[in-house]
Amino acid sequence: MDALKPARNYPIMSNPQAQPRYVGIPTFFRAPHTQDLSAVDIGLIGVPFDGGVTNRPGARHGPREVRNQSSLLRPINTATGAQPFGDLRIRDLGDCWIEDPYSLAGALSEIEAFYRQVVAAGVTPVTVGGDHSIAWPILRAVAAGGPVGMMHIDAHGDTGDDYMGSRIHHGTPFRRAVEDGLLDPTRVIQIGLRGTSTVPGSLWEFSDSSGMRVMPMDELHDRGWRWAVEEARRVVGAGPCYLSFDIDSLDPAWAPGTGTPEAGGLSMIEAQRIVRGLMGLDIVGADVVEVSPPFDVGGLTAFHGASMLFEILCVAAAARVARGG
Ligand code: MN
Ligand code: MN
Repeated sequence: MDALKPARNYPIMSNPQAQPRYVGIPTFFRAPHTQDLSAVDIGLIGVPFDGGVTNRPGARHGPREVRNQSSLLRPINTATGAQPFGDLRIRDLGDCWIEDPYSLAGALSEIEAFYRQVVAAGVTPVTVGGDHSIAWPILRAVAAGGPVGMMHIDAHGDTGDDYMGSRIHHGTPFRRAVEDGLLDPTRVIQIGLRGTSTVPGSLWEFSDSSGMRVMPMDELHDRGWRWAVEEARRVVGAGPCYLSFDIDSLDPAWAPGTGTPEAGGLSMIEAQRIVRGLMGLDIVGADVVEVSPPFDVGGLTAFHGASMLFEILCVAAAARVARGG
């Protein structure tokens, strides 16, 4: 069937990613939308769920706004030369939306069932949340075959325990994942942790005692992003690795639109260079979480979320190619 509005003068513009960036229905990076998993290498997935937040809500609106802002990006990474869309079939799979959003445990079960289908089809999931509680059910699918390592970039360790009577919330996904045997804590590094605490002593007690490498923001700031990359590569090693990026790892100057901001965070260029430094790790899944558009200023946080999503996509694509496409 002929297109209703064909590209007459510029045939290359039949490719959505070659069209002017302000036109069309926004998918992630203007990638084609499909729910046919048979012809997809990397699936970009929105999880519009924020039932696990402990303070300011709104991350349920993250995927739609990150899709919108991601249309500002072009398909080639000039810093690394990566061209993920040229190498692989990268598709927007739409949203993993929640049928029973008022049941937190039920919502996470829905997310797990969705991701089990994606993983079973051999698709590498790259997710936009949503609050960080969604990482636990995603890991239940991604790590179903055995524990994985993790590169975790966040202002928070997210290895807390019960809060106000609930053992599930966005401050606890990685404690639950360790308990479930989904993460090998000796292959987990947490970078950028900081902020104030309600209890004296280490806020990251479970992270430390389980064997994770915790790199608080002060250490990162003293030793620099190159050191952070070296440590991450040493800790994660050669095995399968999940990459989880909480937008609140960025300084609130870069990412004001998030639920639990903490002063004194990463700059955007530091975060970009850290993720670029992960090239060669065996990334088997990734996420960008906690973008909360109602608290955003001029789309800044969603734009930086989309920009980090692109950097993450580039390293995830390289890993996919290294595994044989
Ligand atoms: Mn956080
Ligand atoms: Mn988090």
